[in-house]
Amino acid sequence: MSGFAPPAGPSIFTRIAKGEIPSEIHYQDDQCLVISDIQPQAPVHLLVIPKLEITRLVDANSEHQVLLGHLLLVAGEMARKFDIDESFRLVINNGEGAGQTVFHLHLHLMGDKDFEESDL
Ligand code: 5GP
Repeated sequence: MSGFAPPAGPSIFTRIAKGEIPSEIHYQDDQCLVISDIQPQAPVHLLVIPKLEITRLVDANSEHQVLLGHLLLVAGEMARKFDIDESFRLVINNGEGAGQTVFHLHLHLMGDKDFEESDL
């Protein structure tokens, strides 16, 4: 069991999904939305976010299997849409120690940049 407690209240991403915080939404469907990262680490830096507030990847379970697969497919679709499908990086930070700052699961889709091994 982990002693981790997520911050109370709706996450910043839920507030964006509800239109309470403005953000350009590149794509959305009933399960997820895609926005640009506010502090991009690459020329293309998108966030693929499930509408369901799963705190961290480690908090997902088999009930989320279809949703998790959907997020990967949407990431691929966005890579094609943003013309980075030949080369991109997909990152999930899980936990503070890994750099997670927003405790609502999301995939970072980054491209149009030369990634070097030292970036890992
Ligand atoms: P994490 O560090 O949790 O893996 O990633 C969270 C990401 O969300 C960061 O890259 C950060 O720049 C981005 N972010 C935080 N707040 C906002 C916001 O209000 N709007 C957008 N578009 N991105 C945000």
